[in-house]
Amino acid sequence: MNYSNIVMSMFVVALVAFAWLVPSTSSVAVSSSGHHVIDQEDLVNQSREVQQEKWIHPRLRGLELWQRPSGPPHVAIQVGHLEAASAPEELRALRRNTGAQFGDVTEVSVNQNIARQTKELLEARGVKVTLLPVTIPPNFYADVFLAVHADGSENVAANGYKIAAPRRDASGNAPVLVDFLEKSYGQQTGLVRDPKVTWNMIGYYAFNWRRYDHSMHPLSAAAIVETGFLTNAGDRKVIVEQPEKSALGIVGGVVAYLEAEDLL
Ligand SMILES: [Zn+2]
Repeated sequence: MNYSNIVMSMFVVALVAFAWLVPSTSSVAVSSSGHHVIDQEDLVNQSREVQQEKWIHPRLRGLELWQRPSGPPHVAIQVGHLEAASAPEELRALRRNTGAQFGDVTEVSVNQNIARQTKELLEARGVKVTLLPVTIPPNFYADVFLAVHADGSENVAANGYKIAAPRRDASGNAPVLVDFLEKSYGQQTGLVRDPKVTWNMIGYYAFNWRRYDHSMHPLSAAAIVETGFLTNAGDRKVIVEQPEKSALGIVGGVVAYLEAEDLL
């Protein structure tokens, strides 16, 4: 093959390739505009899959092999708003959230009285109890985590107690705990159940281990208890004047839960 033949055959090859490429390029262009929608749907489906199944939050990794520490049942009771001013940087928004008030009665003092009496009663039954302030030590585990609060409202007629489980409950046990608590708390205090559980309750910062280091262990069964309204005269007769009734209500629910879980 001489030089001109080589040039000629290269030219022919190029011409054939061009003839083949032009229609095929345009057909790719047409079909790609149709494919675009499908690609995006695939992407969305893929990210849903990642969110729902395959992606695991770093704080949940390895927990399928996790076992509770041996020893007696352990209950953590957080005194709502206690030492709020010392909240860490990630929770700085809580520093000025000192809770409800009625006259010179602060919510913290009410929460603290109820929490202390709950602790005494539970310890008498062989339960280990840790009282916690606003700041929870990172990765703190207890079999039960309870946040104790009291409500306040400009409407002095607003009354009743509310108990809620976390919006995202990795323990799977929080609804059972809440059922036991609701039943016992109503029986022991005679207060009415206020069904208006708020977004702030189910999204309580201490439940949010996805976002905050200073939050409860994902596998703790958790609940937040709004013990009654500090701004309501009837509720005050219990939560301020007879906090032992509130404590008994909480203890009854916690004990029933621990027994159901074979922890007590
Ligand atoms: Zn509060």
